[in-house]
Amino acid sequence: MKLAVIGTGYVGLVTGVALSEIGHTVTCIDVDPVKIEKLRNGVPTIYEPGLEELMRRNMDAGRLLFTSRHREGLSGAEVIYIAVGTPQRLDGSANLDYIRRAASDIADHIERHVIVVIKSTVPVGTNRRVRALINSRTKGGVQVDIASNPEFLREGSAVSDTFRGDRIVIGTENRETADTLEKINRPFGIPIIKTDIASSEMIKYASNAFLATKISFINEIANICDRLGANVEEVAKGMGMDHRIGPDFLRAGIGYGGSCFPKDTSALVQIAGNHHHEFNLLQSVIEVNNHQQILLIEKLLARFTSLEGKKIAVLGLAFKPHTDDLRESPALVLIPKLAALGADIAAYDPIAADQARKLLGDNGILYTHQLRDALSGADCAVIVTDWPDIKKMEAATYTRLMKRAIVFDGRNCYRLDAMRKSNVEYYSIGRPAHIPELIS
Ligand code: NAD
Repeated sequence: MKLAVIGTGYVGLVTGVALSEIGHTVTCIDVDPVKIEKLRNGVPTIYEPGLEELMRRNMDAGRLLFTSRHREGLSGAEVIYIAVGTPQRLDGSANLDYIRRAASDIADHIERHVIVVIKSTVPVGTNRRVRALINSRTKGGVQVDIASNPEFLREGSAVSDTFRGDRIVIGTENRETADTLEKINRPFGIPIIKTDIASSEMIKYASNAFLATKISFINEIANICDRLGANVEEVAKGMGMDHRIGPDFLRAGIGYGGSCFPKDTSALVQIAGNHHHEFNLLQSVIEVNNHQQILLIEKLLARFTSLEGKKIAVLGLAFKPHTDDLRESPALVLIPKLAALGADIAAYDPIAADQARKLLGDNGILYTHQLRDALSGADCAVIVTDWPDIKKMEAATYTRLMKRAIVFDGRNCYRLDAMRKSNVEYYSIGRPAHIPELIS
Protein backbone atom coordinates (compact mmCIF):
# COMPACT_ATOMS: atom_id res chain seq x y z
CA MET A 1 0.00 0.00 0.00
CA LYS A 2 1.01 3.62 -0.33
CA LEU A 3 1.66 5.08 3.11
CA ALA A 4 2.89 8.35 4.59
CA VAL A 5 4.49 8.92 8.01
CA ILE A 6 4.49 12.38 9.58
CA GLY A 7 7.48 12.87 11.90
CA THR A 8 10.83 11.13 11.51
CA GLY A 9 11.94 10.85 15.15
CA TYR A 10 12.61 7.56 16.94
CA VAL A 11 9.12 6.24 16.27
CA GLY A 12 8.39 7.78 12.85
CA LEU A 13 11.68 6.83 11.22
CA VAL A 14 11.69 3.27 12.54
CA THR A 15 8.01 2.85 11.59
CA GLY A 16 8.60 4.20 8.07
CA VAL A 17 11.63 2.00 7.52
CA ALA A 18 9.89 -1.11 8.92
CA LEU A 19 6.74 -0.60 6.84
CA SER A 20 8.85 -0.25 3.69
CA GLU A 21 10.77 -3.41 4.61
CA ILE A 22 7.52 -5.43 4.62
CA GLY A 23 6.72 -4.18 1.12
CA HIS A 24 4.77 -0.92 1.42
CA THR A 25 5.76 2.29 -0.33
CA VAL A 26 6.37 4.84 2.38
CA THR A 27 7.04 8.56 2.27
CA CYS A 28 8.36 10.00 5.54
CA ILE A 29 7.69 13.69 6.15
CA ASP A 30 9.40 15.97 8.65
CA VAL A 31 9.22 19.72 9.20
CA ASP A 32 12.96 19.75 9.85
CA PRO A 33 14.67 20.15 6.43
CA VAL A 34 18.10 19.37 7.90
CA LYS A 35 16.86 15.94 9.06
CA ILE A 36 15.28 15.28 5.67
CA GLU A 37 18.49 16.19 3.82
CA LYS A 38 20.48 13.75 5.95
CA LEU A 39 17.89 11.00 5.54
CA ARG A 40 17.80 11.50 1.77
CA ASN A 41 21.54 10.86 1.80
CA GLY A 42 20.91 7.54 3.56
CA VAL A 43 22.15 8.74 6.96
CA PRO A 44 19.82 8.01 9.93
CA THR A 45 19.22 11.03 12.19
CA ILE A 46 19.08 8.82 15.28
CA TYR A 47 21.35 6.09 16.57
CA GLU A 48 19.49 2.77 16.46
CA PRO A 49 21.26 -0.56 15.87
CA GLY A 50 20.42 -2.09 12.46
CA LEU A 51 18.50 0.94 11.19
CA GLU A 52 20.94 2.31 8.63
CA GLU A 53 21.28 -0.92 6.64
CA LEU A 54 17.50 -1.42 6.51
CA MET A 55 16.94 2.19 5.55
CA ARG A 56 19.43 2.14 2.67
CA ARG A 57 18.11 -1.17 1.33
CA ASN A 58 14.55 0.16 1.07
CA MET A 59 15.65 3.52 -0.34
CA ASP A 60 17.58 1.67 -3.03
CA ALA A 61 14.48 -0.41 -3.79
CA GLY A 62 12.49 2.82 -4.25
CA ARG A 63 10.07 1.96 -1.43
CA LEU A 64 11.27 4.58 1.07
CA LEU A 65 11.21 8.32 0.36
CA PHE A 66 11.76 11.45 2.43
CA THR A 67 10.40 14.96 2.06
CA SER A 68 9.89 18.13 4.09
CA ARG A 69 6.85 19.07 1.97
CA HIS A 70 3.52 17.76 3.23
CA ARG A 71 1.81 18.24 -0.14
CA GLU A 72 4.35 15.99 -1.82
CA GLY A 73 4.47 13.41 0.98
CA LEU A 74 0.72 13.06 1.48
CA SER A 75 -0.17 12.97 -2.20
CA GLY A 76 -1.67 9.60 -3.11
CA ALA A 77 -1.23 8.12 0.40
CA GLU A 78 -3.98 5.69 1.40
CA VAL A 79 -2.97 5.64 5.05
CA ILE A 80 -1.21 8.46 6.95
CA TYR A 81 0.62 7.79 10.21
CA ILE A 82 1.16 10.56 12.75
CA ALA A 83 4.36 9.97 14.78
CA VAL A 84 5.16 13.45 16.10
CA GLY A 85 6.26 14.18 19.67
CA THR A 86 3.83 14.61 22.58
CA PRO A 87 6.18 16.12 25.17
CA GLN A 88 5.32 16.94 28.75
CA ARG A 89 3.90 20.33 29.69
CA LEU A 90 4.98 22.01 32.92
CA ASP A 91 1.81 20.75 34.66
CA GLY A 92 2.63 17.14 33.64
CA SER A 93 -0.03 16.86 30.93
CA ALA A 94 0.77 15.87 27.31
CA ASN A 95 1.43 18.76 24.93
CA LEU A 96 -0.65 18.05 21.82
CA ASP A 97 0.46 21.06 19.76
CA TYR A 98 2.48 18.91 17.32
CA ILE A 99 -0.46 16.52 16.91
CA ARG A 100 -2.80 19.42 16.09
CA ARG A 101 -0.26 20.82 13.63
CA ALA A 102 0.05 17.44 11.89
CA ALA A 103 -3.76 17.14 11.78
CA SER A 104 -4.00 20.57 10.10
CA ASP A 105 -1.30 19.57 7.62
CA ILE A 106 -3.36 16.52 6.69
CA ALA A 107 -6.57 18.54 6.36
CA ASP A 108 -4.81 21.06 4.12
CA HIS A 109 -3.43 18.51 1.69
CA ILE A 110 -5.62 15.43 1.28
CA GLU A 111 -7.91 15.17 -1.71
CA ARG A 112 -9.70 11.90 -0.99
CA HIS A 113 -10.67 9.57 1.85
CA VAL A 114 -7.69 8.31 3.88
CA ILE A 115 -7.13 6.52 7.16
CA VAL A 116 -5.20 8.57 9.71
CA VAL A 117 -3.30 6.44 12.22
CA ILE A 118 -1.99 7.99 15.44
CA LYS A 119 1.21 6.25 16.57
CA SER A 120 2.15 8.97 19.03
CA THR A 121 1.21 8.39 22.67
CA VAL A 122 -1.90 10.52 23.25
CA PRO A 123 -4.46 10.91 26.05
CA VAL A 124 -7.75 9.07 25.75
CA GLY A 125 -10.09 11.00 23.47
CA THR A 126 -7.37 12.53 21.29
CA ASN A 127 -7.94 10.26 18.29
CA ARG A 128 -11.62 11.21 18.10
CA ARG A 129 -10.79 14.91 18.43
CA VAL A 130 -8.16 14.66 15.68
CA ARG A 131 -10.68 12.94 13.38
CA ALA A 132 -13.20 15.72 14.07
CA LEU A 133 -10.58 18.43 13.55
CA ILE A 134 -9.46 17.07 10.19
CA ASN A 135 -12.99 16.39 8.94
CA SER A 136 -14.08 19.92 9.83
CA ARG A 137 -11.24 21.48 7.85
CA THR A 138 -10.79 19.45 4.66
CA LYS A 139 -11.72 20.88 1.30
CA GLY A 140 -14.66 19.53 -0.68
CA GLY A 141 -16.11 17.53 2.22
CA VAL A 142 -13.37 14.87 2.14
CA GLN A 143 -13.65 12.70 5.28
CA VAL A 144 -11.06 10.57 7.10
CA ASP A 145 -11.26 7.52 9.35
CA ILE A 146 -9.06 7.38 12.41
CA ALA A 147 -7.09 4.57 14.05
CA SER A 148 -5.06 4.38 17.22
CA ASN A 149 -1.95 2.23 16.81
CA PRO A 150 0.28 2.91 19.83
CA GLU A 151 3.97 2.17 19.62
CA PHE A 152 5.77 -0.13 22.06
CA LEU A 153 9.32 -0.05 20.68
CA ARG A 154 12.20 0.54 23.07
CA GLU A 155 14.97 2.89 22.08
CA GLY A 156 18.21 0.98 21.64
CA SER A 157 16.40 -2.07 20.25
CA ALA A 158 13.74 -0.28 18.19
CA VAL A 159 14.34 -2.21 14.97
CA SER A 160 14.23 -5.68 16.50
CA ASP A 161 11.27 -4.67 18.70
CA THR A 162 9.33 -3.62 15.61
CA PHE A 163 9.89 -6.97 13.90
CA ARG A 164 9.60 -9.09 17.05
CA GLY A 165 7.10 -7.17 19.20
CA ASP A 166 4.74 -8.92 21.62
CA ARG A 167 1.58 -7.41 20.08
CA ILE A 168 0.26 -4.81 17.69
CA VAL A 169 -2.69 -2.85 19.08
CA ILE A 170 -5.21 -1.37 16.68
CA GLY A 171 -8.08 0.78 17.94
CA THR A 172 -10.71 1.83 15.43
CA GLU A 173 -14.28 3.06 15.09
CA ASN A 174 -15.29 0.61 12.36
CA ARG A 175 -14.51 -2.84 11.00
CA GLU A 176 -13.18 -1.75 7.57
CA THR A 177 -10.51 0.49 9.11
CA ALA A 178 -9.48 -2.31 11.49
CA ASP A 179 -9.25 -4.77 8.60
CA THR A 180 -7.10 -2.39 6.50
CA LEU A 181 -4.73 -1.84 9.41
CA GLU A 182 -4.57 -5.56 10.05
CA LYS A 183 -3.70 -6.16 6.38
CA ILE A 184 -0.91 -3.57 6.51
CA ASN A 185 0.61 -5.13 9.64
CA ARG A 186 0.08 -8.84 8.89
CA PRO A 187 3.55 -9.35 7.31
CA PHE A 188 5.17 -8.54 10.68
CA GLY A 189 3.73 -11.86 11.93
CA ILE A 190 3.03 -10.37 15.37
CA PRO A 191 -0.27 -11.01 17.25
CA ILE A 192 -2.75 -8.21 16.52
CA ILE A 193 -5.29 -6.95 19.06
CA LYS A 194 -8.24 -5.10 17.53
CA THR A 195 -10.17 -2.94 19.96
CA ASP A 196 -12.01 0.36 20.37
CA ILE A 197 -10.07 3.62 20.27
CA ALA A 198 -10.30 4.61 23.95
CA SER A 199 -9.06 1.18 25.09
CA SER A 200 -6.20 1.30 22.60
CA GLU A 201 -5.11 4.73 23.83
CA MET A 202 -5.33 3.48 27.41
CA ILE A 203 -3.36 0.26 26.72
CA LYS A 204 -0.29 2.37 25.94
CA TYR A 205 -0.46 4.49 29.11
CA ALA A 206 -1.37 1.53 31.32
CA SER A 207 1.55 -0.52 29.95
CA ASN A 208 4.12 2.20 30.57
CA ALA A 209 2.67 3.01 33.99
CA PHE A 210 2.85 -0.66 34.99
CA LEU A 211 6.46 -1.04 33.84
CA ALA A 212 7.43 2.16 35.68
CA THR A 213 5.69 0.78 38.78
CA LYS A 214 7.75 -2.41 38.59
CA ILE A 215 10.95 -0.36 38.43
CA SER A 216 10.04 1.91 41.32
CA PHE A 217 8.90 -1.10 43.34
CA ILE A 218 12.21 -2.95 43.00
CA ASN A 219 14.08 0.31 43.69
CA GLU A 220 12.20 0.70 46.96
CA ILE A 221 13.02 -2.92 47.83
CA ALA A 222 16.68 -2.09 46.99
CA ASN A 223 16.62 0.89 49.33
CA ILE A 224 15.38 -1.33 52.16
CA CYS A 225 17.97 -4.02 51.24
CA ASP A 226 20.65 -1.30 51.53
CA ARG A 227 19.64 -0.72 55.13
CA LEU A 228 19.32 -4.40 56.01
CA GLY A 229 22.43 -5.75 54.29
CA ALA A 230 20.35 -7.89 51.91
CA ASN A 231 21.14 -8.21 48.19
CA VAL A 232 18.37 -6.94 45.89
CA GLU A 233 19.64 -9.05 42.99
CA GLU A 234 19.03 -12.22 44.98
CA VAL A 235 15.64 -10.88 46.03
CA ALA A 236 14.67 -10.01 42.43
CA LYS A 237 15.79 -13.45 41.23
CA GLY A 238 13.68 -15.16 43.88
CA MET A 239 10.69 -12.97 43.09
CA GLY A 240 11.01 -13.17 39.31
CA MET A 241 10.88 -16.97 39.21
CA ASP A 242 7.25 -16.69 40.25
CA HIS A 243 5.54 -16.64 36.85
CA ARG A 244 2.89 -14.27 38.19
CA ILE A 245 5.67 -11.70 38.75
CA GLY A 246 8.22 -12.49 36.00
CA PRO A 247 11.90 -11.53 35.95
CA ASP A 248 11.75 -8.46 33.64
CA PHE A 249 11.93 -4.88 34.90
CA LEU A 250 13.12 -6.01 38.31
CA ARG A 251 16.63 -4.58 38.01
CA ALA A 252 17.31 -2.04 40.72
CA GLY A 253 19.16 1.12 39.72
CA ILE A 254 19.01 4.89 39.72
CA GLY A 255 15.57 5.01 38.18
CA TYR A 256 13.92 5.19 34.79
CA GLY A 257 14.40 8.06 32.35
CA GLY A 258 13.93 8.55 28.63
CA SER A 259 11.32 10.15 26.47
CA CYS A 260 8.41 7.92 27.56
CA PHE A 261 8.09 6.68 31.16
CA PRO A 262 8.51 10.08 32.88
CA LYS A 263 6.10 11.93 30.62
CA ASP A 264 3.58 9.10 30.22
CA THR A 265 3.30 8.46 33.97
CA SER A 266 2.81 12.20 34.60
CA ALA A 267 0.24 12.40 31.81
CA LEU A 268 -1.73 9.45 33.20
CA VAL A 269 -1.83 11.06 36.65
CA GLN A 270 -3.20 14.18 34.92
CA ILE A 271 -5.72 12.24 32.83
CA ALA A 272 -7.01 10.50 35.97
CA GLY A 273 -7.14 13.83 37.86
CA ASN A 274 -9.11 15.45 35.04
CA HIS A 275 -11.70 12.72 35.59
CA HIS A 276 -11.76 13.17 39.38
CA HIS A 277 -9.61 10.19 40.21
CA GLU A 278 -6.45 10.54 42.31
CA PHE A 279 -3.96 8.01 40.93
CA ASN A 280 -2.10 7.78 44.25
CA LEU A 281 -0.16 4.65 43.34
CA LEU A 282 1.31 6.21 40.20
CA GLN A 283 2.09 9.46 42.01
CA SER A 284 4.20 7.45 44.47
CA VAL A 285 5.93 5.67 41.59
CA ILE A 286 6.99 9.08 40.20
CA GLU A 287 8.14 10.36 43.62
CA VAL A 288 10.22 7.20 44.20
CA ASN A 289 11.84 7.63 40.79
CA ASN A 290 12.66 11.30 41.38
CA HIS A 291 14.41 10.40 44.61
CA GLN A 292 16.16 7.41 43.05
CA GLN A 293 17.82 9.67 40.48
CA ILE A 294 19.70 11.56 43.21
CA LEU A 295 20.48 8.53 45.38
CA LEU A 296 24.09 8.41 44.18
CA ILE A 297 24.62 12.00 45.36
CA GLU A 298 23.51 10.94 48.85
CA LYS A 299 25.86 7.96 48.70
CA LEU A 300 28.74 10.17 47.51
CA LEU A 301 28.18 12.71 50.27
CA ALA A 302 28.02 9.97 52.89
CA ARG A 303 31.42 8.75 51.66
CA PHE A 304 33.27 12.02 51.02
CA THR A 305 31.52 14.68 53.13
CA SER A 306 32.58 17.31 50.55
CA LEU A 307 32.92 16.96 46.78
CA GLU A 308 34.76 20.29 46.36
CA GLY A 309 37.62 19.80 43.89
CA LYS A 310 37.07 16.03 43.60
CA LYS A 311 37.52 14.69 40.10
CA ILE A 312 34.45 12.57 39.33
CA ALA A 313 34.17 10.38 36.23
CA VAL A 314 30.53 10.12 35.16
CA LEU A 315 30.27 6.96 33.07
CA GLY A 316 27.36 6.90 30.62
CA LEU A 317 25.11 9.84 29.80
CA ALA A 318 22.32 8.43 27.59
CA PHE A 319 19.20 7.36 29.51
CA LYS A 320 20.01 3.76 28.62
CA PRO A 321 22.59 1.88 26.53
CA HIS A 322 22.48 1.63 22.72
CA THR A 323 20.81 4.99 22.23
CA ASP A 324 21.97 8.58 21.84
CA ASP A 325 18.78 9.84 23.52
CA LEU A 326 19.39 12.00 26.60
CA ARG A 327 15.78 12.95 27.28
CA GLU A 328 15.13 12.67 31.04
CA SER A 329 18.43 10.86 31.56
CA PRO A 330 19.49 10.70 35.22
CA ALA A 331 22.85 12.12 34.00
CA LEU A 332 21.13 15.44 33.31
CA VAL A 333 20.02 15.56 36.95
CA LEU A 334 23.27 14.29 38.47
CA ILE A 335 25.84 16.35 36.57
CA PRO A 336 24.48 19.83 37.47
CA LYS A 337 24.15 18.71 41.11
CA LEU A 338 27.73 17.40 41.18
CA ALA A 339 28.94 20.64 39.54
CA ALA A 340 27.04 22.71 42.12
CA LEU A 341 28.80 20.74 44.87
CA GLY A 342 32.17 21.81 43.41
CA ALA A 343 33.13 18.54 41.69
CA ASP A 344 35.43 18.53 38.69
CA ILE A 345 33.54 16.37 36.16
CA ALA A 346 34.73 14.15 33.31
CA ALA A 347 31.68 12.80 31.47
CA TYR A 348 31.96 9.73 29.24
CA ASP A 349 29.51 8.32 26.72
CA PRO A 350 30.40 6.35 23.56
CA ILE A 351 27.59 7.99 21.53
CA ALA A 352 25.91 10.82 23.42
CA ALA A 353 28.86 12.90 24.75
CA ASP A 354 28.56 15.68 22.14
CA GLN A 355 24.80 15.87 22.56
CA ALA A 356 25.28 16.14 26.35
CA ARG A 357 27.70 19.03 25.89
CA LYS A 358 25.02 20.85 23.85
CA LEU A 359 22.44 20.35 26.60
CA LEU A 360 24.58 20.92 29.70
CA GLY A 361 27.11 23.40 28.33
CA ASP A 362 30.88 23.26 28.77
CA ASN A 363 31.03 24.69 32.31
CA GLY A 364 34.49 23.23 32.82
CA ILE A 365 33.18 19.69 32.20
CA LEU A 366 35.30 17.34 30.10
CA TYR A 367 33.09 15.41 27.65
CA THR A 368 34.73 12.38 26.13
CA HIS A 369 34.10 9.28 24.02
CA GLN A 370 37.05 7.58 25.72
CA LEU A 371 36.54 5.74 29.02
CA ARG A 372 40.24 6.03 29.76
CA ASP A 373 40.17 9.85 29.54
CA ALA A 374 37.27 10.07 31.97
CA LEU A 375 38.84 7.69 34.50
CA SER A 376 42.46 8.95 34.45
CA GLY A 377 43.31 10.51 37.78
CA ALA A 378 39.67 10.45 39.03
CA ASP A 379 38.84 10.38 42.75
CA CYS A 380 35.76 8.32 42.04
CA ALA A 381 33.57 7.01 39.21
CA VAL A 382 29.80 7.20 39.02
CA ILE A 383 28.09 4.76 36.63
CA VAL A 384 24.89 6.16 35.13
CA THR A 385 24.38 4.03 31.98
CA ASP A 386 25.20 0.32 31.66
CA TRP A 387 26.90 0.51 28.26
CA PRO A 388 28.54 -2.85 27.36
CA ASP A 389 32.08 -1.40 27.42
CA ILE A 390 31.53 -0.21 30.99
CA LYS A 391 30.07 -3.57 32.02
CA LYS A 392 32.97 -5.43 30.40
CA MET A 393 35.66 -3.38 32.12
CA GLU A 394 37.92 -5.27 34.51
CA ALA A 395 38.07 -4.04 38.11
CA ALA A 396 41.84 -3.73 37.63
CA THR A 397 41.27 -0.97 35.03
CA TYR A 398 39.76 1.23 37.74
CA THR A 399 42.69 0.63 40.06
CA ARG A 400 45.19 1.26 37.27
CA LEU A 401 43.71 4.49 35.93
CA MET A 402 42.09 6.25 38.86
CA LYS A 403 43.70 8.21 41.65
CA ARG A 404 41.52 6.26 44.07
CA ALA A 405 39.48 3.32 42.80
CA ILE A 406 36.12 4.23 44.29
CA VAL A 407 33.09 3.31 42.17
CA PHE A 408 29.43 4.21 42.69
CA ASP A 409 27.52 1.92 40.38
CA GLY A 410 24.01 3.18 39.64
CA ARG A 411 23.23 0.22 37.36
CA ASN A 412 24.66 -2.75 39.28
CA CYS A 413 26.97 -3.51 36.35
CA TYR A 414 29.33 -5.88 38.14
CA ARG A 415 29.01 -9.13 40.03
CA LEU A 416 29.54 -8.59 43.72
CA ASP A 417 31.80 -11.64 44.05
CA ALA A 418 34.12 -10.24 41.34
CA MET A 419 34.28 -6.84 43.01
CA ARG A 420 34.95 -8.44 46.39
CA LYS A 421 38.14 -9.95 44.96
CA SER A 422 39.30 -6.52 43.73
CA ASN A 423 40.87 -3.45 45.26
CA VAL A 424 37.95 -1.30 44.14
CA GLU A 425 35.86 0.38 46.83
CA TYR A 426 32.47 -0.43 45.43
CA TYR A 427 28.99 0.92 46.16
CA SER A 428 25.97 -0.25 44.18
CA ILE A 429 22.18 -0.19 44.53
CA GLY A 430 20.55 -2.49 47.07
CA ARG A 431 23.68 -4.60 47.51
CA PRO A 432 26.27 -4.57 50.29
CA ALA A 433 29.23 -2.21 49.74
CA HIS A 434 32.74 -3.63 49.29
CA ILE A 435 35.43 -1.66 51.12
CA PRO A 436 38.89 -3.20 50.62
CA GLU A 437 41.23 -2.92 53.55
CA LEU A 438 43.98 -1.35 51.43
CA ILE A 439 42.02 1.88 50.86
CA SER A 440 41.65 4.41 53.62
P1 NAD B 1 10.74 12.79 18.34
O1 NAD B 1 10.67 14.07 19.06
O2 NAD B 1 12.02 12.01 18.29
O3 NAD B 1 10.30 13.01 16.81
C1 NAD B 1 9.21 13.79 16.39
C2 NAD B 1 9.48 14.29 14.98
O4 NAD B 1 8.29 14.89 14.46
C3 NAD B 1 10.56 15.38 14.92
O5 NAD B 1 11.54 15.00 13.97
C4 NAD B 1 9.79 16.64 14.45
O6 NAD B 1 10.59 17.50 13.65
C5 NAD B 1 8.64 16.03 13.67
N1 NAD B 1 7.45 16.87 13.52
C6 NAD B 1 6.79 17.59 14.46
N2 NAD B 1 5.70 18.17 13.93
C7 NAD B 1 5.63 17.80 12.63
C8 NAD B 1 4.72 18.05 11.54
N3 NAD B 1 3.63 18.81 11.70
N4 NAD B 1 5.00 17.53 10.34
C9 NAD B 1 6.09 16.77 10.14
N5 NAD B 1 6.98 16.47 11.12
C10 NAD B 1 6.75 16.98 12.35
O7 NAD B 1 9.59 11.89 18.94
P2 NAD B 1 9.59 10.29 19.22
O8 NAD B 1 10.51 9.92 20.34
O9 NAD B 1 9.71 9.57 17.92
O10 NAD B 1 8.11 10.09 19.78
C11 NAD B 1 6.97 10.27 18.97
C12 NAD B 1 5.75 9.77 19.73
O11 NAD B 1 5.85 8.35 19.96
C13 NAD B 1 5.55 10.39 21.12
O12 NAD B 1 4.19 10.53 21.38
C14 NAD B 1 6.14 9.34 22.05
O13 NAD B 1 5.57 9.39 23.33
C15 NAD B 1 5.75 8.07 21.34
N6 NAD B 1 6.64 6.93 21.65
C16 NAD B 1 7.98 7.13 21.68
C17 NAD B 1 8.82 6.05 21.94
C18 NAD B 1 10.31 6.24 22.03
O14 NAD B 1 10.97 5.33 22.49
N7 NAD B 1 10.86 7.36 21.58
C19 NAD B 1 8.27 4.76 22.13
C20 NAD B 1 6.90 4.59 22.05
C21 NAD B 1 6.09 5.69 21.81
